[in-house]
Parts: sequence; C-alpha cells; structure tokens
Amino acid sequence: MRLSADLKRSVPFFSPRYVGHMASDLLLPGVIARIITTLYNPNNVAEEAAPATLDKELEVGLQLARMVGWATDPSATPCAYGHLTSGGTLANYQGLRNLTAAKFYGVALAAAVRSTPALLGAISARGEAIEGLDDWALANLSVDEIITLRADAMRSSAARLAPEARAGFGALVESERHESLGLFGFFTRHPDLAGARVLAPATAHYSWSKALKTLGWGVDMMGTVRTDRDMRMDVAHLRELLEESAHARVPVLCIVGVLGTTEFGTIDPLGAITDARDDARALGIDASIHVDAAWGGYLATIFRAEDGGLIERDALRKRFHYFPSQEVYDAFAALARADSITIDPHKLGYIPYAAGAYVARNRGLAEFVSHSAAYVFDARDEEEDPSDRMRHLGEYVLEGSKSGAATASAYVTHKVLPLNERGFGAILRHTIRSCEYFYDALGEWRERMSDRVKVTMPITPDTNLVCLVVNPAGNTSLAEMNAFGRSLFSQMSVELDASLQRRDFIASYTSLFAENLAPVRAQELLAELGIRPGALAPRPRGPYEDDHVYMLRHTLMNPWLMQENERGRNYIDRYLDHLEHLIDDATRRV
Ligand SMILES: *Cc1c(COP(=O)(O)O)cnc(C)c1O
Repeated sequence: MRLSADLKRSVPFFSPRYVGHMASDLLLPGVIARIITTLYNPNNVAEEAAPATLDKELEVGLQLARMVGWATDPSATPCAYGHLTSGGTLANYQGLRNLTAAKFYGVALAAAVRSTPALLGAISARGEAIEGLDDWALANLSVDEIITLRADAMRSSAARLAPEARAGFGALVESERHESLGLFGFFTRHPDLAGARVLAPATAHYSWSKALKTLGWGVDMMGTVRTDRDMRMDVAHLRELLEESAHARVPVLCIVGVLGTTEFGTIDPLGAITDARDDARALGIDASIHVDAAWGGYLATIFRAEDGGLIERDALRKRFHYFPSQEVYDAFAALARADSITIDPHKLGYIPYAAGAYVARNRGLAEFVSHSAAYVFDARDEEEDPSDRMRHLGEYVLEGSKSGAATASAYVTHKVLPLNERGFGAILRHTIRSCEYFYDALGEWRERMSDRVKVTMPITPDTNLVCLVVNPAGNTSLAEMNAFGRSLFSQMSVELDASLQRRDFIASYTSLFAENLAPVRAQELLAELGIRPGALAPRPRGPYEDDHVYMLRHTLMNPWLMQENERGRNYIDRYLDHLEHLIDDATRRV
C-alpha cells in the first residue's frame, strides 16, 4: 500500500498535458499481455525457458522487418531477422557489434586459409581467391558479400576437409578474429588497417558514444558528420568523410542514419546517405548502414499499405497539411536499402518498458556473433534451419535472461494494431497532425505575443517534435534569453519535491549548440530573436550561457492532444494559453 501511495509521485505520462519526453499513454493490449505473461515469467534466453514466447519474439522481429520493407520469406535470400532488446541503447550496441563482427570476418578467414593448404584457391570474393586479397579489400566487402563468403567457406571446407580438420579450421578462423585477439591484438596483426571509424551525425543519441566506450573502441574514433540547417545529416560532409577514410585506409564499421532524432525528431536523408555509400565503393571503401530509428521506426506504418507496399507520396499528402516532405518521404522509402535498424516499441509502439528491437535485413548477419561460432563449421549445424538455431537466442544477443513478457506485449499489440496505415499508422497520423496544428497555431500566437516576446521554431518539424525559443521583447543578451527559457521551463518541469498534480503542463528542454550550427544559420537565428549578432560562439563544453540556444522541447506523441474541452480548446491551444500565462508572469517579474 505504501508503494501504491508512493507511485502517485510518478510522472503522469498518460496525460495529454504531458508534452515532455518520449513517453505517453500506453496501449491496453500491450499492458494486458504484459501483466498476464509476467505471471508465467518466461525467459526468452532460450526456447526451453520460454516455449510460448520465444517464437513470438522472432515473429515480432519479422513484423518490424516487414514494416520497414524487408523480405521475410525464409526460402528467399536475403531474409530478415530481429529480436527484442531492453531498449534502443542495447539495440544500437547490437547493431554495432554485428556489423563489426562481419566487417573483419573476411580478414580472419583469409588468414586462416593462408595456413590451410587444402583450402588454397577454394574460397573467393569478387572473383579472386581470398588469400590473394589484401586486408583493406577484405575489410571492405558488403554485408551481403561477407555472408555469401562465409557460406562458401562452409561449403568448401565441408568438401575439402575431413571432419576433424574441419573443426580445426573452424577454430583457426575463430582464433584470427578480433573477438579472440582483442582489438589491440587484431590491429597489431593487420597494420594495413588504420583502426576503424563509425560515422554518425552530430545529432546522434548518446548511446552511440556509450557503445564506443563499452565495446572498447573509444569515443575518439567517431567521425561526426555535420548536420544541415534542418538538423538532418549533411550528406556532402558524409561524402568527404568517406573519401578521407578511404584515403587513410580506415575501415568504416557503419554509417549511422537517424530516423527521428531524439532532440528534434528530424529525419536523416537515408536515400542520399545510401547513395553516398554506394558511390564510395568506387574508392574501395564499403560501409554498412545502421538506421537508428528508436524514435521514428513506427512512423513507417503511416507509409505502409495493408498489402505491405509503400503508399505513394501524393496519396499520403491528402491526409496532412505538410507531411511528408519529399525529403522525409524519400528517407522512409530508402529504409529498405539499409542493413540493420533499431526500433523502440517502448517509444512510438506505446508499450511498457523495457522493449527495444534490433532488426537486420539479412539474417546471415546473426551467424557472425553466435557464441558457438567455433562449432558452426560442423556441417550438421549448417543444414539446420537458421531460425531453429535462433531458438537459442541467448547465443546471439548481448543480453542473457530476457523478458518474455515484453515480447508478449509487443506481439499482441502488433496483432491488434497491424503495422500498416490502417492499424498503427492510424494512431501515429494523429501525432503528426498534432504537430502540424501546433506549427500553424504558433503563427497566430507569435503575432499575438509580439509585444511581449519574440518566438521562433528554429527547426521545421519533420515528424512530431516541436522546439521553441522565447526571448523577452527588447532583450539582446543571449545569456538572458537562455535564463528566461529556463525560468519558463522551471514551471513545467518534473521536480522531486513539487507536487506534479499542480503542474498544468509538463514539457522538456534541449539546446542548439553553436558547434552544431553553421555560422550563417547561427546569425540568422540570432537576428530572428533580436539577439546581439555574434553572441553565439562555439566553446569547449562547459557551464556557459552563451554557447547554445536554450529551447523548450515538446514531444507530441499523445494521440489525444486534439481532443477539445467544453470551450472548444484542444490541448495544444491550452498549452499555448498556459505558456502565455507563464510568460506574462515572468515578464511582470522582470
Ligand atoms: C531513445 C533513443 C535511443 C535510446 O533508446 P533507449 O530505449 O532509451 O535505450 C537511441 N537512439 C535514439 C534516436 C533515441 O531516440
């Protein structure tokens, strides 16, 4: 009873007056599935601990794969696969780990072949025996090429080696891999490879830096790609970084494209990113593409027809005022060309924590991280259906024991609301429309407020997040404007010692850092706000008030935001009324 009483201090995510972080009301099918499954407490680490929920986890992976346009027919190649994780963070780690494992597999395989005379000339890539390829070439095969290469190695070793020699060869390959040698040992043995890099936009979630620390690479290996004025990846800069990497012979483990940035909801141009990757192949460099769609993944349901096809942009546009822009449409259409993806069911899937997902376009990618990899040169294992092997899920994932209840929650939710425009898409359309309403309403509101404050929306929303900057009329100091923003936020924040029930609305905040803005854009923004030119300058990260623009941030994911009260005012109208009230209070105090 004390717990139940204490839980009243929790953040009321369920309320449409909560427009802060990426949390909202939950879908009942997922809640019910979660509760009833918890009583059986299945452990999806392996099927023998989860006879009823493990296959459902793999099915959820396939449901999400179809949502982004990947093939899931097990008789075809490639066939996708996916599984749940505790969240987007772990799914990103999984993405990096799998792509890294595949990246350096060819290097290890060639080294093992060089000391196995019976296999010389037997296994080839790009039309050449692999022992003849140099490490740089071997580290720049595509995901699909590496998967084919591994299958060839399996076949050739079965044909040319006796069972015992085959096991020995398998162990030799393993001993050459960086997973055995460690990164230091591996790169010492392969001095032609000048380390490695991940290319991710400046807007990437901090889980990517965490991943680089955790997986032993170190954050300095991150190649940060600049963003453009819309806070989307600047593909011209990506092209430069790819060229530079090819020139310096630094393999790129992956390019991270963000589908729905955490701070702004913006969408990286995945089509142009994939084209840049394809073009770079002419320079001898290959980079896989992992899409971090922890936030925006489910928005793909808006684009997906019931028959699984992609809906035309013109047909979609009839349902919105602005969405989807050509750039956003092209990005969703290009998802099918990526290699792997992170999607969070516990964000826009509206199911309880903890539920993230990792999905790959080609299920062959899983084999590089199987914990029993040393044995898979055993032909018997190869004959097995790959999805049967996945029943020992714990061998393929970063986690061990994992919740079958989270699986049930996602599975039942996807059954009740299929991942297409008629199911999930119908809910998510509301979130985009709420954002469009906010955008339009802000025009009038800004006019009405112009005697008191200057207001701008520095980033045109791509999806369902809105950020605002508010500057008191006549103020030219950046530091003061930021302090004013903070004072507004302090009336809409979650504070441990304040009663949340007394808040009219709860919002969140973020900042635009000078280092992430082109100088021209920074000047333009300051001019719009009436701030002294030159006030915004890049600085080493620190407690400065003038190296960033403080913004109120609103996640508009609650599907009930457009519900009107008895006076015909919806939650967005009421939020703007509230903000006006806070501004009047604060300016009076000033
Ligand atoms: C939320 C988010 C993550 C991290 O996901 P968790 O579920 O919080 O671990 C990663 N990337 C993006 C783009 C996100 O929005």
